[in-house]
Amino acid sequence: MENLNKVAEVIKNNDDFLIASHESPDGDAIGSMAAVGHLLKTMGKRFSIFTADKIPDKFKWINMPGPVNNEYHPGRHSWIIVLDCGDLERSGKQLSGMAAEPILNIDHHRGNPEFGQVNWVDTGFSSVGEMVAKLADHLNIKPEGPLAEAIYLAVVSDTGFFSFGNTSPQVLELSARLIRNGINPGLINAKILNQWTIEKLHLHGMALQKTLFYLNGKIGLVSVTRKMLRETGAAPEDCEGVVNAVRNVKGVEVAISLREDEPDKIKFSLRSSGDVNVQLMAAELEGGGHKNASGGIIAADMDRSRERIIEVVARHLA
Ligand code: 5GP
Ligand code: MN
Repeated sequence: MENLNKVAEVIKNNDDFLIASHESPDGDAIGSMAAVGHLLKTMGKRFSIFTADKIPDKFKWINMPGPVNNEYHPGRHSWIIVLDCGDLERSGKQLSGMAAEPILNIDHHRGNPEFGQVNWVDTGFSSVGEMVAKLADHLNIKPEGPLAEAIYLAVVSDTGFFSFGNTSPQVLELSARLIRNGINPGLINAKILNQWTIEKLHLHGMALQKTLFYLNGKIGLVSVTRKMLRETGAAPEDCEGVVNAVRNVKGVEVAISLREDEPDKIKFSLRSSGDVNVQLMAAELEGGGHKNASGGIIAADMDRSRERIIEVVARHLA
């Protein structure tokens, strides 16, 4: 509460903000950036929205409160509002080494090192979108219209449409309010979910066919190679969600996906349900995230990366 007060004071007492989030932005990143922008717009404040990577096509329908670009000009803003970044490096090269302005760090990741001048970090929130809703209440701004849609996008993205362990009474109550305020959840859910390309469908089929299982089926691992991307014509971001299909297999406690970005750069994702904490496993591999969903990068080839990650996960499960 004390930190929420500080965040509100910084916003009230300043003007011209840069709003930023993490590389490869997901629904919480896009939704919370849009939501903060709508708040600032309502308050008559100036702002720019920065993303290191462009907004994925599947989020193009979201109403952005202003132009979004990937240029950062140090010194032009009063504060940088960094959303949903477990560490500052996740905001991208332009910002992480260069930030000239003080940083307002609003996040819900475990192990956030509080890199801002003002930090509101609380792992009790399902999503940063939920935190922004709290900020809106604090500022007496009603979550409706595009602000409500942006918060809803963030919330359903990080709760897996209210299926993950972070689905709290508070987040359901907030969502009920958003629906009362006029959003249409069925319509928005369809906009978020029904976005697959045929290439993505083929990629998931091809990769899942070759899923490997370890430790009597407690670990499932799916790999996406550059060859698979070439053969299906899919894009790297089309891998998103493939790890969830593996988690759906009965008996799997930890689902792993590996994506070959470069021959010696493998992006991994870890997923679990309930008490199994994959954040601890990701941290051993210099990644991070949440108890049931974490990720990171391994600087090794596919075979070496698979061996390393299986060793870590198996040791934690043993
Ligand atoms: P995903 O597997 O979908 O990329 O990410 C799952 C979760 O892990 C997200 O909450 C994300 O913020 C976190 N995460 C993914 N990659 C990294 C990383 O390289 N470093 C850290 N600290 N967290 C990550
Ligand atoms: Mn998030």
